[in-house]
Amino acid sequence: MTVLVFVEPDDELSLQAITLARSLGEVRAVQIDGPYAPAAWAGALIEAAGTDPIVGLGSDRGNEVLAHVAARLDLPFAANVTAVRGDEVTRQRWGGTLLEEARVHSDQKLFTAAPFAFAAGDVPPVETLRPDLTNAVQVVERVVPDTGGRVSLADAKVVVSGGRGVGSAEGFAILEDLAGLLDGAVGCSRVVTSAGWRPHTDQVGQTGTKVSPDLYIACGISGATQHIAGCKGAKTLLAINNDPEATIFTHADYAVIGNLHEIVPAISAELRKST
Ligand SMILES: Cc1cc2nc3c(=O)[nH]c(=O)nc-3n(C[C@H](O)[C@H](O)[C@H](O)COP(=O)(O)OP(=O)(O)OC[C@H]3O[C@@H](n4cnc5c(N)ncnc54)[C@H](O)[C@@H]3O)c2cc1C
Repeated sequence: MTVLVFVEPDDELSLQAITLARSLGEVRAVQIDGPYAPAAWAGALIEAAGTDPIVGLGSDRGNEVLAHVAARLDLPFAANVTAVRGDEVTRQRWGGTLLEEARVHSDQKLFTAAPFAFAAGDVPPVETLRPDLTNAVQVVERVVPDTGGRVSLADAKVVVSGGRGVGSAEGFAILEDLAGLLDGAVGCSRVVTSAGWRPHTDQVGQTGTKVSPDLYIACGISGATQHIAGCKGAKTLLAINNDPEATIFTHADYAVIGNLHEIVPAISAELRKST
């Protein structure tokens, strides 16, 4: 069986998708030339694949394009797959915090490979598809948010993040101070953005930014699944919470049980002494 695999040039995740595709059959790799236009790209893949399975990479773009393919063909689509056994798949749900066993009820399978669930495969010859962009919705410009000279949340090596426990918009001043000392960025939980204390661009989590800093300092954050989905890529997690039973401590490498309004300024004071 031939399996069409949709790759993106120089993307590590593409090589992982190739490994998933190889486990299903003979790989035919394609890339798409032209501006990003998900519906048009889906049309090109449908035309190239015929009735063959299609595998894509589990990136935002890969999942979006495959979702268009599935909608156009009225077929089921399993995103972020970690294993395939005939009609059955294991796939990541809830931002990768749980694994779901599912059965795919269609002859033509549509999968994306969960990031880092597969080793990178060798690159086979890659064909280039040129989609019909007539009347297609296209991305014409990307606007980088203004971070005021500070490192962006997504790129920061240190993220100091606050939750409901911070108590107010003004309460974030001590987190801003600590983040400044560590050349880091400030993040927050959804409760905080819902309360209007911080903009949505600062939100970490399933419906916010996914961060993978060297150090994530969670201050007054309980550790809800949807928040952890955004920070589980952190190399080290330090949690500061006054509730010793807080769920965040089950994810933390370092735990400080206490009032963040005392502990955060104390850390900043120690850092100032050492500089
Ligand atoms: C579909 C969906 C998507 C969602 N997406 C996201 C998302 O992307 N990101 C996200 O964050 N949430 C998301 N949520 C919301 C999530 O479920 C939680 O409600 C939210 O993360 C809780 O925020 P919190 O930890 O700040 O607040 P709480 O759960 O209220 O926790 C506050 C914590 O602060 C501690 N605390 C209080 N005072 C202090 C103090 N003085 N010092 C130290 N600790 C203190 C408390 O002990 C408590 O643990 C989503 C929910 C749904 C249903």
